[in-house]
Amino acid sequence: MSETMLAALTNIRTAEDMIVAFRDEAQCRRLLESMVWPAGRVCPACGYKRSIAIAGRDMGKRRAHPGLYQCSSGGCRFQFTVTTHTPLHSTKLPLRVWLKGMWLMLRGRKRSTEYPEDACHGDRAATR
Ligand SMILES: [Zn+2]
Repeated sequence: MSETMLAALTNIRTAEDMIVAFRDEAQCRRLLESMVWPAGRVCPACGYKRSIAIAGRDMGKRRAHPGLYQCSSGGCRFQFTVTTHTPLHSTKLPLRVWLKGMWLMLRGRKRSTEYPEDACHGDRAATR
């Protein structure tokens, strides 16, 4: 089996992994949270390391949406999600769209370092 085919198969497997990993918003949120907070949740307003999940709680007019947390620091009580203070927060795109985009970008970068000769294909004919 050629290296190219092996690489292609590896990519297909990774893509399937990606589809499973990004299958729904709750899963994407958990994944994103583990990326943003590898050592546990941190309040983006004050940096306090303790917060509570308030998703689904009655907040008067509406219910708290999934992934909403509240800082446990007495003077802060800031409510935040994993995307607070990130460019993702202002968009209405589903998290899975962002994660897929990021994954594709990372894969593209990995490829260009693994196969640097790909970048030279255009020059090869001219120098021959
Ligand atoms: Zn706080």
